[in-house]
Amino acid sequence: MVTMTPPRLLLHICCGPCLLGSLLHLEGEREGLEGFFCNPNIHPLAEYRRRLEALRSYAASVSFPFSVGGEYGLIPFVRMVAGREQERCRHCHGLRMRATAREARRRGIPAFSSTLLHSVHQDRDAVVEAGREAAEDVGVEFLPLDMRGTWRAGKSRWRATGLHAQRYCGCIYSEMEREGMKVLDNLREMNR
Ligand code: SF4
Repeated sequence: MVTMTPPRLLLHICCGPCLLGSLLHLEGEREGLEGFFCNPNIHPLAEYRRRLEALRSYAASVSFPFSVGGEYGLIPFVRMVAGREQERCRHCHGLRMRATAREARRRGIPAFSSTLLHSVHQDRDAVVEAGREAAEDVGVEFLPLDMRGTWRAGKSRWRATGLHAQRYCGCIYSEMEREGMKVLDNLREMNR
């Protein structure tokens, strides 16, 4: 259990499974917590819709309020990382943390954090750095919660819901890597 100050927090949601695990960590601390799903990094469109639909079902089942930021973002996302695919995660974290920081400021919420800090598959230091930079730029507070302790429990609870569980991080590059092809190999292939 953590103590959250200030009392209102905008929680960036990367996906339903990570929201479930984060809420396990934040048990008893939900008052003042609002969710924000903003992930132009999730591709293709069918997968984006499946993840959002799963999140909607889960959030409704636990009465957790959240809003959706932006639309499906394949084209702007691909343009953003084109030519720097190897460092795409840094840009991806930065994009989502800035959007969440701006949304917090727009709504008058003094602080934000992210369910990315629940995932053991994310680079925690990189997410924290992106959150801190966004907070400084926008003028709100970033809370670097460490919610990884409920990872296993969250995963098994999500499985029990029967809702869609993703097989890769989100972007088309991570889908390719999940299927066994590395970004570098793909670039070499193109340059042959
Ligand atoms: S692998 Fe995940 S964190 Fe990295 S760019 Fe793709 S969606 Fe974003």
